Amino acid sequence: MKNISVIGAGTMGNGIAHVFAQSGYTVSLVDISQEALDRGMTTITKNLDRMVAKERISEEDKNSTLANITTYTAVAEGVKNAELVVEAATENVDLKLKIFKDLDEKAPAGCILGTNTSSISITKIAAVTNRPEKVIGMHFMNPVPIMKLVEIIRGYSTSDETLQVIMETSKSLKKVPVEVNDYPGFVANKILMPMINEAIITLHEGTAGVAEIDTVMKLGMAHPMGPLQLADFIGLDVCLAILKVLQDGYGTAKYAPCPLLVNMVTAGKLGVKSGEGFYTWGHKTKELIVADNFKK
Ligand code: NAD
Repeated sequence: MKNISVIGAGTMGNGIAHVFAQSGYTVSLVDISQEALDRGMTTITKNLDRMVAKERISEEDKNSTLANITTYTAVAEGVKNAELVVEAATENVDLKLKIFKDLDEKAPAGCILGTNTSSISITKIAAVTNRPEKVIGMHFMNPVPIMKLVEIIRGYSTSDETLQVIMETSKSLKKVPVEVNDYPGFVANKILMPMINEAIITLHEGTAGVAEIDTVMKLGMAHPMGPLQLADFIGLDVCLAILKVLQDGYGTAKYAPCPLLVNMVTAGKLGVKSGEGFYTWGHKTKELIVADNFKK
């Protein structure tokens, strides 16, 4: 495998393009927006510059990584030589189904179609293509160049051969692939999101404040950051959407989103991306500042 196409140049797409290119693959990075492509390439360049400064890679490595990436706004051009496509476009079911119908028509017959979706059923995405045995989940973690895990999600029809190729390809990126089956939330979010939800319930019930909950989980459980800070990073709207997928998919009350989370999303308090969630963001220090409405 040599030619990889990545669909979507946002947070995840540019990271995925970066790691493939750094491992010597020829990468076609595709986005509907030229601005997103430009922003994605700027991010990749900055991240490579940081690695050069830390002497993790040489200037030559940086240049050859960048030379391995070509950007496209036209899907047909961007996937015409692909042996593997990794889709990392916006998380929206209808959009993903449309993209996969299109990829099935435009990508070469033998090409494997992977998706980085956090929560959409791989089986459902595969069902709109004529090659469901070649559709698989490749769930990278953010930030992609740093995080080792790739959750490899096997859809109902994914073949053993596709699984094997993707496990090996992930190892070639110096990542650790873990095989899981296609059920709501896969493994990562099925466990993470109820923990975040429980932290929000604990806050909502008044058992402890924001800083106290996060400190207990950081220092007591050796988590690198507390669940409320993590929720702010992920985006409270994303957390709510994934909890709804779990609630619908398993049909049990244990995944019901905390009403406080629902209210915050409704009020536009989405975490880092909106400037306020459980903490206020945009301040210049690294100190965590609890948002005004959570101050005692
Ligand atoms: P993002 O909003 O940063 O980027 C999405 C990009 O997709 C945008 O640049 C947009 O222009 C592009 N796009 C939209 N429609 C397109 C189309 N038809 N063709 C090509 N490009 C298109 O989103 P993101 O955070 O990078 O998330 C991408 C995927 O990765 C989602 O499925 C998300 O669930 C998943 N994911 C995200 C994270 C995370 O922490 N952000 C972690 C794991 C998985």
